Amino acid sequence: MQHAPLIDHHCHGVVTKELDRTGLEALMSESYLPPPTGTHQFQKPLGLAIRRHCSALLDLEPLASADDYVARRTALGSREVSRRLLVAGGVATHLIDTGHRSGEISTPEEFAALSGHAVREVVRIESVAEEVAASGVSAAEFPARFEEELRRRSRDAVGFKSVVAYRTTFRIEQTAPARSEVIEATGRWLAASEGRRPRLADAVIIRHGLWAAAGIARERRMPIQLHVGFGDPDVYMHACDPTHFTDFMRFMEAWGVPITLLHNYPFVREAGWLAEIFQNVYYDVGAILNFTGASSTRVMRDALEMGPYSKQLFSSDAFGLPELHYLGVVLFRRALSQVLDEWLRAGDCGTRDVEEISHAIGHGNAARIYGLA
Ligand SMILES: [Zn+2]
Repeated sequence: MQHAPLIDHHCHGVVTKELDRTGLEALMSESYLPPPTGTHQFQKPLGLAIRRHCSALLDLEPLASADDYVARRTALGSREVSRRLLVAGGVATHLIDTGHRSGEISTPEEFAALSGHAVREVVRIESVAEEVAASGVSAAEFPARFEEELRRRSRDAVGFKSVVAYRTTFRIEQTAPARSEVIEATGRWLAASEGRRPRLADAVIIRHGLWAAAGIARERRMPIQLHVGFGDPDVYMHACDPTHFTDFMRFMEAWGVPITLLHNYPFVREAGWLAEIFQNVYYDVGAILNFTGASSTRVMRDALEMGPYSKQLFSSDAFGLPELHYLGVVLFRRALSQVLDEWLRAGDCGTRDVEEISHAIGHGNAARIYGLA
């Protein structure tokens, strides 16, 4: 089967400075802390997947040892490793979230130059709020300045992203807050973050950001991405079940704003169900295929269990390491084709269906909702 071109609808830049083993391993985990003494990050499915699939691109035998892999990576240097892995991934277009640790990773321009692929930007709502708060704005000026900045920053972007689940969980009020409430909450936030970089975790201000972005997204027909489940360690996982955010999805359905649910682990079935029920809900299992490695086909099987294939999207959610970009592609293609082969062999679909499903999930759905050619 010929591979359809891919749109990676949610990913981040790569680290361009040289990485030692500690730096490399830190980017193989979403944890804040290193693994316990005497253990390392290659001792899990992601580590095996890197050794199996990335070694050959670094001129090593598949499943080269972690020590050999790190030594070869160091000898080649970060830029060369990034170039090899990003080019080999062969993604047509990357939609890059520029709001997470942006000082440590490549800019979209650097990323496009390294990979030779097209790049578009997704604006992270909470990062814009934090930048506006740090600019010396007063609480009374904040709501309007924040909206203005969202509008300005998203002019050439293709979507917004929110990390509301990380910051407050999904178990919050989901209506638009009154301006007076936003000003009051901002006053408290600015006073509490005096002298430090303000980190937004206030539900009222985050709701204001979501609704302000939604207004812009409605005008410009852009999706809002919502982080779900697996990700940073600052989550209370049980409260990051996306079904807690049903009211907001329903409001956005009335506005015609697509909501794309990212990662969704371990709520893959919930995400598939939401996509089945709501006209405007889309979902992916990005990042999860990388972290489940050898078992990633099972995750894809769950993702395809009920969700319409006109609603599923491809993403790597790679951050920092080009290995994660490359694996995102390899494991996605493998998992999808293994599940569709099973369906084909069972007579549950035909070869034309397999092509249609692969194209829709890998490219067509994202092209349609993000307005990409
Ligand atoms: Zn991400």
